[in-house]
Amino acid sequence: MRKNIVAGNWKMNKTLQEGMALATELNETLAGYTPNCDVVIGTPFIHLASVAAAIDKKKIGIAAQNCANKEKGAYTGEVSAEMVKSTGAAYVILGHSERREYYNETSEILNDKLALALANGLTPIYCCGEALEVRNANGQNAFVQKQLEETIFKLSVDDFKKLVLAYEPIWAIGTGVTASTEQAQEMLAFIRSIIAGKFGQEVADETSILYGGSCNAKNAPELFAQPDIDGGLIGGASLKVADFKAIIDAF
Ligand code: PEP
Repeated sequence: MRKNIVAGNWKMNKTLQEGMALATELNETLAGYTPNCDVVIGTPFIHLASVAAAIDKKKIGIAAQNCANKEKGAYTGEVSAEMVKSTGAAYVILGHSERREYYNETSEILNDKLALALANGLTPIYCCGEALEVRNANGQNAFVQKQLEETIFKLSVDDFKKLVLAYEPIWAIGTGVTASTEQAQEMLAFIRSIIAGKFGQEVADETSILYGGSCNAKNAPELFAQPDIDGGLIGGASLKVADFKAIIDAF
C-alpha cells in the first residue's frame, strides 16, 4: 500500500529558535496520537540537526529542502547529501520550482542530486509542475512528462521505488490559488499512468504522489479524498502548527 504523506516545506522561514519552537510544538501536538498519514517537515539546513535531536523521528520525518550536486570538497556554501543524512534527516526535497527558477537547477543538476541523495539513503521528494503560460496553452501534461523523462524516469526501477513525487503547479504555489480538485486529480492520474507506462502498473500503484500549491485546511479534505492524491507538500500552511495539524487531520 502506498503511503499517505503530509510534508511541510518551511522554505527560507524561521530563525533557529523559531524553528525549534515550531518543531517542538508539532511534536507535542502529535504525541499520544497517531495520524492517518506520514508527517514530514522540510526545514532549512541550519535546523536539521537540532530538530532531529528534539522530536520523535518515528512520528515526524525530517527533510532538507535541497542538497548539493557534488559529493564533497571545495564547494563553498554547499551542503552534501551525506551531510544532510548525518543530521538525522530522512528526506530531501529536490526539483522544487523555486530552485529550478531562481537557482537554475537543470535536469542534469537534478540527476546528480538524485543520485547522491539515493546513494546516501535519503528519500527524495521530487517536485514537478508547470507555469501558468504552459497551463493556459494546455501543455501541462507534455511539460510534466518531459520533466520526469529527463530525470526520475532515468532511474532504475529499484531507485524509482524509493521516491515520493510532488506535483506543484507553479501558478498555485504561494499564490492562494489552488488547482481545482479536478485539475489536481487529473494531473496526478496522468503522472501515475506514465509511471505505469515506464515502470509497470504495480510500481505506479505503489508510488506516493503529493499535490502542492496553496493547500490548506479548507481544501485538503477534498483534495486528499481523490483516488490519485496521496497527500500534500505544504508551504505557507506548514508554518503554524494549528494549520499544519488541520491538514494532517484531513486524512
Ligand atoms: C511549496 O512551495 O511547496 C508550496 C506548496 O507552497 P504553498 O503551500 O505556500 O503554496
